Amino acid sequence: MAIDVSQRFIFDDTDIRGDIVSLSGCFKEIITDNDYPPGVAALLGEFLVASVLMSSTIKFEGRLVLQARGKGDLSLLMAEVTHDRQIRGIARYKQDVSTPDMQTLFAGGALAVTIEPANGERYQSLVPIAGSKLSDCLEHYFEQSEQLSTSITLASAHDAVSGLLLQQLPSQLVTDVTERANQWQHVTVLTNTLTDEELITLSGTDVLSRLFVEEQVRLLDENNIQFRCTCSTERTARALVLIDSAELDAMFDETAVIEMNCEFCSKQYAFSRQTLTEVLEGERNIN
Ligand SMILES: [Zn+2]
Repeated sequence: MAIDVSQRFIFDDTDIRGDIVSLSGCFKEIITDNDYPPGVAALLGEFLVASVLMSSTIKFEGRLVLQARGKGDLSLLMAEVTHDRQIRGIARYKQDVSTPDMQTLFAGGALAVTIEPANGERYQSLVPIAGSKLSDCLEHYFEQSEQLSTSITLASAHDAVSGLLLQQLPSQLVTDVTERANQWQHVTVLTNTLTDEELITLSGTDVLSRLFVEEQVRLLDENNIQFRCTCSTERTARALVLIDSAELDAMFDETAVIEMNCEFCSKQYAFSRQTLTEVLEGERNIN
């Protein structure tokens, strides 16, 4: 069965909370649509899980985009998640990546985290590539931007990806600095004993009972995640007319119908000169 869920857990006596995300059905749909090679697929999967984990730490309405651009084998990795947990993602690559080392793949580059609120201005944070793994870079990001200790574990297999996030919240239940530090260390040390295979295959309940035998921890309700693309005829038409008009004329001289494929979901769109004009005029009338 395809399981695509995110689930929060909380400890009764510490200011630490966690989120577990598992993607299988969504992940398979996304990678099969584009026929990504295994190394690229695994890294894209990590980006997808990471974007869902990050979105769970903030309140927003709109979408969060996590992306990295490189000059080598991978030119783009991008994962998007909306506040209601609809995800999509793409990778552009020259060839498969066998050892997905972030510092090699995106040398000299940065990760970008963009929040696009449904209403209001988008804002972007650049995250330095501070380690060889995506999780290292994101932990660094939280440390810098939120000043909250955060631990992220990501694991990918050929047909599923999972992630676990722990975050120490501002002091509420425990005010003693040393006790807070000890609790954080205790919980993260336990979490580090989880293997990739366990994170991929175990349910949220089983992960918690495997890790936290003596701690008072509660798992909250599951939230479903869906793969949904936001492409449309109108958006594709708008993207098409961004092309230089002389170039567009030349394209229509060559072929009666211009075909465009959505990079995210592979959906095909076709426009003749007439249908393109009609779509854009229809848009204008609405606005
Ligand atoms: Zn699409």
